[in-house]
Amino acid sequence: MTGSPAASACSAAETAPRTAARPPRASDPGTPRDDVTATGAEATAALLRAQRRFTDCTDPSALAEEVADEVQRAGFCGVLLLAPVARSRHRELDVLATRGCATPQPGRSTTGADLARSAPAAVVELVPGDPTAPRLAVWGAPGADGAPLELLAAAAGTAWRAARAAREAQLATAELAGARQLLAGAVRLAGLGSWSWDPDTDRVTLDDRLRDLLGVAPTDPDPDLATWRERVHPDDRGPFTGVDDPAARTGSPVPYPFRVRTADGTERTLLGTSVPLRPGRPGIVQGLVLDLAPGDRSTGELVRLAQCDSLTGLANRSVLDVRLEEALRTATPTSAVALVLLDLDRFKLVNDTLGHQIGDALLRQIAARLQQAAPAGSTLARLGGDEFVLMVPGVDRPESAAAMAHNIIRRLRVPVLLPGLPEPFVCTCSAGVAVGHEGSGDELFRNADMALYRAKDAGRDRVAAFDSAMREDAEARREAEHKVRRALRTDGLRVVWQPIVDLRDERLVAAEALVRLQDPVEGLLEPKRFVDTAEDTGLIVDVDTWVLGEVLRQLGEWRSAGAGLQVSFNVSGKTLEHPAFAHRLAHSVESSGAAGSSLLAEVTERTLIDLSTSTRASLGELRSVGARVGLDDFGTGYSSLSYLDRFPLSFLKIDMSFVRPLGTSERAAAVVRALIGLAHAHGMVVTAEGVETREQATLLREMGCDRAQGWLFGRPVEARRLNTAG
Ligand code: C2E
Ligand code: MG
Ligand code: MG
Repeated sequence: MTGSPAASACSAAETAPRTAARPPRASDPGTPRDDVTATGAEATAALLRAQRRFTDCTDPSALAEEVADEVQRAGFCGVLLLAPVARSRHRELDVLATRGCATPQPGRSTTGADLARSAPAAVVELVPGDPTAPRLAVWGAPGADGAPLELLAAAAGTAWRAARAAREAQLATAELAGARQLLAGAVRLAGLGSWSWDPDTDRVTLDDRLRDLLGVAPTDPDPDLATWRERVHPDDRGPFTGVDDPAARTGSPVPYPFRVRTADGTERTLLGTSVPLRPGRPGIVQGLVLDLAPGDRSTGELVRLAQCDSLTGLANRSVLDVRLEEALRTATPTSAVALVLLDLDRFKLVNDTLGHQIGDALLRQIAARLQQAAPAGSTLARLGGDEFVLMVPGVDRPESAAAMAHNIIRRLRVPVLLPGLPEPFVCTCSAGVAVGHEGSGDELFRNADMALYRAKDAGRDRVAAFDSAMREDAEARREAEHKVRRALRTDGLRVVWQPIVDLRDERLVAAEALVRLQDPVEGLLEPKRFVDTAEDTGLIVDVDTWVLGEVLRQLGEWRSAGAGLQVSFNVSGKTLEHPAFAHRLAHSVESSGAAGSSLLAEVTERTLIDLSTSTRASLGELRSVGARVGLDDFGTGYSSLSYLDRFPLSFLKIDMSFVRPLGTSERAAAVVRALIGLAHAHGMVVTAEGVETREQATLLREMGCDRAQGWLFGRPVEARRLNTAG
């Protein structure tokens, strides 16, 4: 890294004085040059302005391109804007915008390891920063004489973070508490010092505090690595032996105690961490030390604090990362590393309904059970919240890892007794398994995470093992998520309308609003390409809210044109559960001046089965503005009809899978006839979906079905093409 800047992630507050914080040394290649200060100051001011905009907004992705342009205009030739992926367990970052580098590409995700391979060297330094904050990196601003200004990097995002979902905030609080504890210990010890080793000069630069601790005079030259090692007690040199071996280095610092000889021959015990600036590559290594002065906490306790999850006593993420990289280095195809990611099913419900104390007690019991199930030589860690991971080296076949995971979730299924609860409690868990013998730990994590997603998606309480098709699936989901985000911020959503007719005279009585996504490359996309992903990510709330706005606007237009149509629209269970939806809905209907009675809200069976308090409130609000609530896709999912009584429904739409066989199957006709009878008995209007043939329409009319929708009467079209005249 000769001649390239040594940079680190820093908060907004640290950005401006950063270059002044470390006294410049003649040997330090990262020292800013005086002759570029004026341009540098202007560029820094522009950068800080842009950064403030970026981090103060609630959705960094919305402003990313604009901010990147702004930073580039300030004179920086390279810009990279990143945001952590909300659902990712392995520190993935969304690439929001780039300038001046071919990779990574905007719209994709990346990780620290990927960046290290592809991005300009300076960017890599940003990655160890605050994993929950959006990141902004810039490099190569031209100075007055065209000389490059050293890297300025900024990472912050308090405002943005504050806007995150409550659950994430909860998880973060627990992690923060651990970090604060650690920090409090460090402050009490008040012995922070730092060193860095540059392979090009073989000098170990000691800061003033460390010089003071070791009794090294400020005028004494920096030692070389061999001399620095000699000062360390021979039994404690382990952590320093790999320092000059790039292949042996990882990016996760695990604190280690070591004894060191001071200038007057006495011995001090320090707690150290060290990390290469560019993991796995030759380059500068940086270390921090705490002075373990006598009378303070015992070394063992401090190490435990730094390496363990405070709630369960299991290893924390840093320890796991290091052990995983170590295990991968020695792995072979017949002695591979297995990663089992475990996530408790519906743990949020436990916290919400039984309280956090019971939630914590449950997590501790789960941790104890996992410890019993963990094979010798494995590492068990808690990643935060209800996520655990087991890393097992020496696995001969992927099937053995899957069998182990099955065994674990079987053990966890056994009811637990929790303090204050009269009944034993059953908590199930899903697991994702990945096995590997090469590549990075990040990659293995990503694979296990994809498998876990599959296990959850397939209904929870099960194990899924990674296969390569999952990677394509995950990529497609990420792309869909990106498309939806972009569409939401660039006005890229559309609504098309499908006619619904009265079956008695086939007169148009209503139209269903169906969302589409106008993609700049692929054109108009149907919901099957993006609605599931929007549901998974919670973006569906924004999609549904946008569609509702459009529905109200269109309703107003039709009313003024004299068309008295009803409009049907789909509302996802997630949207109804959102606490703000009921209020937004009432406000939108009121301010649009539309008659609420023209609205038909379509919900799914799942919504009624999972009926929560907030969902009930939203449904109640729909009714109180005059809207009718009905059931979409009836008959597709659940055999129980008991939920029909849970909420007063005005209409029911029979799914097209029942309509399609009409005319060819007597059985299908009997089922449809029974469904119509059932709906009428409940006082509901019945609409048949997917009516494509005249024969189906005739049969449905004979059976007493009230309304029909399908290609026979019209495909979904733009509003102006819907024939509202007749
Ligand atoms: P859905 O609400 O059951 O909508 C009916 C779907 O059936 C529409 O597909 C429509 O184009 C299709 N369809 C209608 N008649 C026929 C027919 O005769 N034959 C065949 N083969 N198909 C027919 P589309 O537009 O692709 O929408 C699919 C689903 O996406 C919707 O099913 C709904 O569940 C969801 N969706 C659409 N718009 C929204 C929205 O704004 N919000 C939410 N949450 N979901 C939406
Ligand atoms: Mg529908
Ligand atoms: Mg439907």
